[in-house]
Amino acid sequence: MFNSLRTRLMVVYTLIIFITIAAVDVLILSDYFRSRLQERTITYFTYGNIAANLVSANSSDVFYISRTLEQYTQTTGARFLLIDSRSVVVSDGANHYTGELLTNPQVRKALSGSSSWAVYDNGGKNLQLAVPVTTGGRDSLEVVGAVLISADIGDLYDSYRSLRWRVILTSLLAGLMGMLFSFAAAHHLSRPLHKLIAFSKRLSRGRLGEQVNIKRNDEIGQLADTINIMSADLHRIEQNRRRFIGDVSHELKTPLASIKALVEALLMGSNAPEEKYREFLEDVIGEVDRLSMLISRLLTYTRLEEERLKREYLTLSDIAADTVRIMTPLAASHNVILENKARMDIRVPCDKNLVREMLVNVIDNSIKYRDRAKAVNKIEITDGRTFDTYRLEISDNGIGIAEQDLSRIFEGFYRSEPSRSREIEGYGMGLSIVKRIADLHGWDVSAKSQPGRGTTIVLSIPLQFK
Ligand code: ADP
Repeated sequence: MFNSLRTRLMVVYTLIIFITIAAVDVLILSDYFRSRLQERTITYFTYGNIAANLVSANSSDVFYISRTLEQYTQTTGARFLLIDSRSVVVSDGANHYTGELLTNPQVRKALSGSSSWAVYDNGGKNLQLAVPVTTGGRDSLEVVGAVLISADIGDLYDSYRSLRWRVILTSLLAGLMGMLFSFAAAHHLSRPLHKLIAFSKRLSRGRLGEQVNIKRNDEIGQLADTINIMSADLHRIEQNRRRFIGDVSHELKTPLASIKALVEALLMGSNAPEEKYREFLEDVIGEVDRLSMLISRLLTYTRLEEERLKREYLTLSDIAADTVRIMTPLAASHNVILENKARMDIRVPCDKNLVREMLVNVIDNSIKYRDRAKAVNKIEITDGRTFDTYRLEISDNGIGIAEQDLSRIFEGFYRSEPSRSREIEGYGMGLSIVKRIADLHGWDVSAKSQPGRGTTIVLSIPLQFK
């Protein structure tokens, strides 16, 4: 149970609330009691001093002094006693101790010249304070006695106790409310986490693409958004994987079906002339070539998934020139003029073989998708740069690509309708290999095209400044 975040948070919140309340309580109560006691002491000291002055001014009139102390005793509720220098009670406001010897610490201190006070517990709480009675001038000051005041301060303790109870009760109530709030807060915090845990479990069981509905502006909200993005990404990756396997199977099935049909035709037509056999077998070889070509394309593509780049700082226009040299005979055999006009001497980190493979694929497409109706077919490689990007462009004046196909040609196995219907050799893998290589390098690749006018494949390479 203590492993649950909610319980832990609740315990911590509750402890914090109770410790804080207890500390505040102790502080308030002790301060309250101290200040009330101080008030009382000051009041009685004032009375004591007045009484002491009165005594010293009327020292000969014992009767007057006794009457006055009696009056003080009646009006203040505290007992006023006059003690002579031998500690004998001369006058007692309550007429109790007159004539008796009284030597408590306060009296002793007063007779030695200083005032003091103390609280005694003799059944009830009793405040005793004494002030000296002096005669003579400033230079010949003589202590002739002391005024002792004894006051019952039980009421102070009673009001302190009742206040303490009220404070404790209120604190308990506040603490309980705090506990309720902390429960609500812990619940508020842990509930979306439980939701996220359940959601992650569903994801791990394969329910990809689902979204968890948690709308919050805090870190939990951010976590939910991230998990939602992850779920969508995983769903997309899974769909791509399935589509890829489906497409591969389909592409493999087509040549296998034609091989099967051709072989069956051979088997059935046992009396066919030899040229017919030869023709059929050549078709079979053609299909097998198609198959092995497709498989080698697939291998290239899948190897690119893990392939670690062998990066070197190279000038792309040089690699373009090399590739053009290699591809020129093929272009020429189809009456296509292939020209490299890229001249910039900008070195970028890249894998030479992969860049060459990329350019071969793009140039090969430009040759394949040339416009046979045009007198001259041209392919041109140019380059240029902005402040932070180097661009290599391969342009042709071929058949072009329809607007709706442009965004999809880099997907694996995607072939636009004209290329299918025109029976141009291909599997829709060339540009996905190009895109993969660009991705591996951290480059961007895009296509611009106008049907009937031509296509430009643009490689954008971010320049790094060291
Ligand atoms: P494919 O093996 O079909 O050539 P790619 O992935 O290389 O596969 O190209 C995908 C599709 O993009 C092609 O089927 C074609 O429709 C279109 N395409 C690519 N390059 C060009 C181009 N230079 N001119 C016209 N269409 C092109």
